[in-house]
Amino acid sequence: MSTFSYSESTPAAMSLITIDNFINNAYVKPQNGIYFDTFEPSRGRPYAKIPDSAATDVELAYKAAASAFPAWSKTSAAERSNIMNKIANLLESRLDEFAEAESRDQGKPVELARTVDIPRAIHNFRFYASKIIHATEEAGELPGVGLSYTQRMPVGVAGLISPWNLPLYLLTWKIAPCIASGNTAVCKPSEFTSMTAFLLCSVFIDAGLPTGVVNMVFGTGMGAGQAIVDHPRIPLISFTGGTVTGAKIIANSAKHFKKLSLELGGKNANIVFADSNLEAALNTSVRSSFANQGEICLCGSRIFVERPVYQQFLDGLVARAKNLKVGDPRSKDTNLGALVSREHWEKVTGYIQLSLEEGGKIECGGQKPSSLQDEFKDGYFLEPTIISGLTPQCRVMREEIFGPVVTIYPFDTEEEVIQLANDSVYGLSCSVWTENIRRARRVAGAIQAGTVWVNTWMARDLRMPFGGMKQSGLGREGGDHSLNFYSEIKTICLAD
Ligand code: NAD
Repeated sequence: MSTFSYSESTPAAMSLITIDNFINNAYVKPQNGIYFDTFEPSRGRPYAKIPDSAATDVELAYKAAASAFPAWSKTSAAERSNIMNKIANLLESRLDEFAEAESRDQGKPVELARTVDIPRAIHNFRFYASKIIHATEEAGELPGVGLSYTQRMPVGVAGLISPWNLPLYLLTWKIAPCIASGNTAVCKPSEFTSMTAFLLCSVFIDAGLPTGVVNMVFGTGMGAGQAIVDHPRIPLISFTGGTVTGAKIIANSAKHFKKLSLELGGKNANIVFADSNLEAALNTSVRSSFANQGEICLCGSRIFVERPVYQQFLDGLVARAKNLKVGDPRSKDTNLGALVSREHWEKVTGYIQLSLEEGGKIECGGQKPSSLQDEFKDGYFLEPTIISGLTPQCRVMREEIFGPVVTIYPFDTEEEVIQLANDSVYGLSCSVWTENIRRARRVAGAIQAGTVWVNTWMARDLRMPFGGMKQSGLGREGGDHSLNFYSEIKTICLAD
């Protein structure tokens, strides 16, 4: 069992951790022998070496998954459920270690990983361990003919590709329903955050997951990721990541008619009506704007506030944002850690610069905190930033920034704000704040987004469908929706 401890980051232990692929329940070096550095965002320095896997590694992983498939697909739901519960229990017993690893790799506060990311990863396995033993098929009498019923078959070897913002949370959200449904998998975590996926492999071994059921290939999108999408015998791709990548995956997989689930980007509206509980709206909006450094696809990055309470809301949000502590991810009172990479920090700060060129006013933030010294002076930190004065046509109000940057804009009528919220190529989520139940139902019904929260944010019921409209994705995950995606459903008609 490999264990992980933050103390490895002390100067005395500066040798880089090396990650290897996980194929047939064994750690395997990349065929080309090439590794690249991955960086610790809070310190801005390399701390681990990641295999730069290519098509040959994907082929090895595919072969392992394909030879595991016949036996795994024939196991009973109860057997699969049992192993998944063991995975969940082992993960839970290593909660602190996984939380520290996630924080060090991604930049987020340890406390966030300990209370959100890793518990959700545990829950993903438990949820589908339970779901699969309670799953039923459809059946109906066909008068004069006989009985129609459905039967599910696993699809085969699944390609699971995940992003860097919620690394273990989102990867396990794919692995759990995939293996619960009897498929085997070739996974490709983000090249920026491979560590907890690597640690998860040791959990699989300890839980007794049969050889080859889940294989992990580390590397870049253009290398290992594209090789999975191009592989002619991987019939299903579940992808979470950017919209531009999603479009490439649609194009590259089209010739093989792959089953696709795409969870993509967003530019979510957070709508605050004057009749809302302003205190509650403010307290949640500071989280929906800046949690995980704003690197959550569901963050409400476009805030629209009804004019009579606009100034009061802006003042309240600025005061709360200024109170947030940015810095050492290990410290329990840290609210924002570091952004995931230097490239991403440059992208996000580029948008702050652009907002000035577009006529915006930075109400707070916009800078790397000057208080960060010593070990954190090279980290990719950024203050929570609120920008006013932009028009809805500005790029900063239209493009996904995916950092601790929100825009705020006043509106006058319900019709106007519905039009503003829907005026986007994205349609992932939206929050609505009002105490008027009829208005809540009207607005929620009119919003073009896969999830609408009323007087809350990021509350997630795993039984419910989750996904995006428009360029925010294709398909729905969660509950039966994932089981349907990871299955081929056959109708059998049996004559009397
Ligand atoms: P990304 O698209 O750059 O990368 C995601 C994954 O795809 C990585 O593992 C990457 O290596 C791989 N990849 C890149 N190019 C590929 C290709 N051509 N073929 C196959 N795989 C390829 O996204 P990111 O920067 O890691 O993540 C941020 C994005 O993810 C944001 O847009 C965010 O909104 C989105 N996201 C969406 C959801 C959701 O549920 N809708 C959740 C989290 C993140």
